[in-house]
Amino acid sequence: MRDFYLYNSLSRRKEKLEPLAPPEVTLYCCGPTVYDFAHIGNFRTFTFEDILRRSLALCGWRVREVMNLTDVDDKTIAGAERAGLPLRQYTDRFIEAFFADLDELRIQRAEHYPRATDMIPEIIALVQSLLDKDHAYVSGGSVYFRLDSFPQYGRLSGVDRGGILDGARVDNDSYDKESARDFVLWKGDREESVGWESPFGRGRPGWHIECSAMSMKYFGPSLDLHCGGVDLMFPHHENEIAQSEAATGRQFVKYWVHAEHLLVEGRKMSKSLGNFYTFRQLREKGHSAASLRYLLASTHYRSQLNFTFEALQAAASAVNRLRDFKVRLDSYHPIVANYISVDFWCLEEFRARLADDLSVGEALAHLFDFVHAINRRMDVGSLGEADRNRALRELAAVDGVLDVLRPDGEVGSELEKYIEGKIEERIRARRERDFRRADAIRDELLERGVILEDTPGGTRWKIRQSDPGNRA
Ligand code: AMP
Ligand code: ZN
Repeated sequence: MRDFYLYNSLSRRKEKLEPLAPPEVTLYCCGPTVYDFAHIGNFRTFTFEDILRRSLALCGWRVREVMNLTDVDDKTIAGAERAGLPLRQYTDRFIEAFFADLDELRIQRAEHYPRATDMIPEIIALVQSLLDKDHAYVSGGSVYFRLDSFPQYGRLSGVDRGGILDGARVDNDSYDKESARDFVLWKGDREESVGWESPFGRGRPGWHIECSAMSMKYFGPSLDLHCGGVDLMFPHHENEIAQSEAATGRQFVKYWVHAEHLLVEGRKMSKSLGNFYTFRQLREKGHSAASLRYLLASTHYRSQLNFTFEALQAAASAVNRLRDFKVRLDSYHPIVANYISVDFWCLEEFRARLADDLSVGEALAHLFDFVHAINRRMDVGSLGEADRNRALRELAAVDGVLDVLRPDGEVGSELEKYIEGKIEERIRARRERDFRRADAIRDELLERGVILEDTPGGTRWKIRQSDPGNRA
């Protein structure tokens, strides 16, 4: 295993990862609230978590990940009521859409995706144990966490404990930075359409408690890494720490890792500004999943990412460059007897950059230097067979993290599309016995370094190798 460093929001510095039970790394990621389609801001955080997971694997660690699906809260209940559907049926649709988007964006599946509504007995047991230990109290049929019973409250986010008002409570799942309050663990309500029986009366869980119950179910009292967007640091993650550590007496999470937000054209993404995008909307505009993935992954996770269509276009070009490079390597015919070994390799440095707090930008810069160097070798025909094969292996390993080389559905890279289009045009010309046109197309491609071969199985193409006699 390679040493891996991450910025820990709790200590506010970069730390070497020392998991509780190496080589396993336990990872908990706060998942979507499934009342609507996830937007590209959400997918920035989920893509960051995917890059983290794959980078750890590239460095030899074994990741076990849990991501919760919040399928009961104010928004899901309101959505289901508006749609006139039972809650489960309503959230099923958005969970299905979420998984479809994950697959298209090539985000690897976590090992577990528990739903809050499948976790009610565990949540009730956790609330009960907080009541038993006097860290919680019942008021008006609901159960609240007693903030002044947990003096460490506020360490993660730095929220002002002086702002804690004696006896003040909140029932909402999210609340302002200024107001650290006793927060709700169990919302009692005998009238609401959704509810479960419990020792403290009919009701439903608050949002924060589900993450503690789920992470304890799969990982026990302590885990290594806990991720989410920066907006979750307070109150959500602060509350998770309080209720978990109050219940178990053990440190809940060793490393808290938070991703910065995605902005759109320099502004907060919001429905009212009309700059709110889902992945599906971008796809309808003709943008590919691989280019969005590349864009989301390539900015450092601790910097805000300003989404623009120019940046998305630039990401598409970068993806095409990598795909063209792969096509060229695949079809390159080395002149075996005559090779000069390549002293410039990629994978080791790529891995080292990722292991340094996921410096994806630097890792990519290194990758493109490598592409450039190998392309120059191919230009002059001085890339040997062993080196060609190694370059392909390194590219595949790097793509094990980036995952952008696979074509999007049917659509290949720009170069491939261009060549395939020309070949079709030539087939049509020949069918129409316009041999002059057919030959002109062949010559046009040849000029661009593409050789056509007519075989009984159809027309094949390859990239021409330079004359080794002209080697620079
Ligand atoms: P939600 O479905 O709102 O609970 O959010 C799911 C995940 O997306 C959480 O980790 C949020 O912190 C994250 N998130 C929400 N908005 C943004 C944004 N604009 N940019 C990046 N991440 C976000
Ligand atoms: Zn959470």
